[in-house]
Amino acid sequence: MPDCLFCKIASGEVPATRVLETERTLAFRDINPQAPIHVLIIPKRHYRDLADLTAADGGLLTELTGQAYQVALADGIAESGYRVVFNTGSDAGQSVEHAHAHVLGGRPMAWPPG
Ligand code: 5GP
Ligand code: ZN
Repeated sequence: MPDCLFCKIASGEVPATRVLETERTLAFRDINPQAPIHVLIIPKRHYRDLADLTAADGGLLTELTGQAYQVALADGIAESGYRVVFNTGSDAGQSVEHAHAHVLGGRPMAWPPG
């Protein structure tokens, strides 16, 4: 998708602080972190949202959430706890229409979210 920010991050056209990478996924630090650890995990291919990603075959969603756990391990929050969030659609505040999981941790978090 030519005008998609996260496609540009996946291709390297827009720089990002990369954390982990697989053939099909990329994890990089959020530019506006909401917690001491805030990493985004994207499929390198463009999927608009969770519904689109769910329809992808080959276990891509499983791989993406598995990478969320790998990020938590690598950043030292697997034991203390972390939150994995897919903001989906306008009520949830999805602002980039390239499916992504947020991994947040490093501080206690409130529930329910705002
Ligand atoms: P959403 O609001 O769609 O769930 O999440 C989009 C996230 O992308 C936000 O947390 C925002 O801070 C992050 N973001 C927006 N632009 C950039 C960017 O250019 N680089 C990085 N690393 N993160 C970005
Ligand atoms: Zn995209």
